[in-house]
Amino acid sequence: MVGAGPAGLVLALQLARAGVDITLLESSLSYKRSFRGESMQPDTVSIFKELGILDDLLEHGCLETHRMMLTERGKSLLTINYTKVPYRHKYVMDIPQPVLLSALLKRLETYANCKIIRGATCDELLWSDNTVSGVSYRLHDEKEPRVLRARVVVGADGRYSKIRDLGKIEWKKHQAARDVLWFKVPLPADAPENTARIMIDGANHLILLPTFPDYYRAGVNIPKGGFMALRREGIESFYQLVDGIDAGFGKHVREHVRNWNDIHLLDIFTTTAPQWGREGLLLIGDAAHTVTPLLGQGVNLAIQDAITLAPMLVSGLEKNSVDISLFKAFQAKRQADVDFVVNLQQRQEKLLGAHTPMQQFLRRVNYCALNQFTFIQRKINNRIAYRRQLQLQLFQEGG
Ligand SMILES: Cc1cc2nc3c(=O)[nH]c(=O)nc-3n(C[C@H](O)[C@H](O)[C@H](O)COP(=O)(O)OP(=O)(O)OC[C@H]3O[C@@H](n4cnc5c(N)ncnc54)[C@H](O)[C@@H]3O)c2cc1C
Repeated sequence: MVGAGPAGLVLALQLARAGVDITLLESSLSYKRSFRGESMQPDTVSIFKELGILDDLLEHGCLETHRMMLTERGKSLLTINYTKVPYRHKYVMDIPQPVLLSALLKRLETYANCKIIRGATCDELLWSDNTVSGVSYRLHDEKEPRVLRARVVVGADGRYSKIRDLGKIEWKKHQAARDVLWFKVPLPADAPENTARIMIDGANHLILLPTFPDYYRAGVNIPKGGFMALRREGIESFYQLVDGIDAGFGKHVREHVRNWNDIHLLDIFTTTAPQWGREGLLLIGDAAHTVTPLLGQGVNLAIQDAITLAPMLVSGLEKNSVDISLFKAFQAKRQADVDFVVNLQQRQEKLLGAHTPMQQFLRRVNYCALNQFTFIQRKINNRIAYRRQLQLQLFQEGG
């Protein structure tokens, strides 16, 4: 397996538990990564419970997001409350990704049938005719490549997947109209409790996500490819961009974001692949379907891929029938969820980017209607936040 992010680690853990022999290659030596998936959907929290890592995460500490508020020039248009549902896990958990990955790794290390190799970058696939039969990788401190043969190679190597290209898997990149500049600031004293916020003004918006232990992870949109031009204008142009959306928050940002080193550019795009695999090779998580960070869905989709795939692979390996038809059956099980998220995100991208007064008027009508008709909110959330708990009937005890 290539890549020990959320998808690779969860799949490895489930396979190791079932007694499958696995080697997990991960290029990074440490999990020092920020501005990655940190908001975990309620369904993902239910999976943490099942994997036996929820207590570790709670012991480390996390933040709970109970609602999302969307405002336009200070006026509230939409509030979505995550807690008014009967499910067992009903908050979005904010946890640093390194903490999550370390908790998964700790469990995985207890299985002798799983070998984890850090500092190992996969740079070639091995082929037998048209079938992938293993990988070649380099250790960070060695020049000569090493070779590893496998019955199945799983590419869980993220949004810039090299395995996808090495495996000659057809894919397309769909650029959003915007990029996002991410930064962190302490939670302001007047921040509403347990609340994620979207502030919009014209075609600009700010996304504020409560972040452990007491920060906002904040994102402001810029036009696609516009970062270098903004940088050349100087940091004042960044401050003015934020001021223009919310002057109060802008003042806070001036105090805490000192220079461009505190700001991280995120290229926003989606990828789609008609086939997630070929004989001997399967992609999962971001490698198969990168989504945008809107609505915090990437980790959820990646982990659900792993949870869905594990029993299918175990049974296929037992029957000695791991082939393209199993990979197609896996994709068929997951595609609708991925498509739902991508379509929803594309609609939100359009609404957030509304340029003309008419588009902005229609956006107001859209969000006000969604605010009014809570059954529509419920329908969407039952799909992207509680689908698994609904299917498994994981209702609140005593509720
Ligand atoms: C700025 C930002 C914010 C985000 N916020 C959220 C959020 O709040 N909630 C959410 O759900 N999602 C969010 N996402 C998306 C989320 O981070 C991803 O969807 C998720 O991490 C995908 O998991 P993965 O395991 O598929 O890939 P990754 O997490 O990308 O893991 C891939 C792993 O493969 C390793 N690797 C890569 N190439 C090789 C190679 N050749 N050889 C060996 N190893 C390799 C990498 O080092 C990495 O550890 C965000 C993403 C970004 C960029």
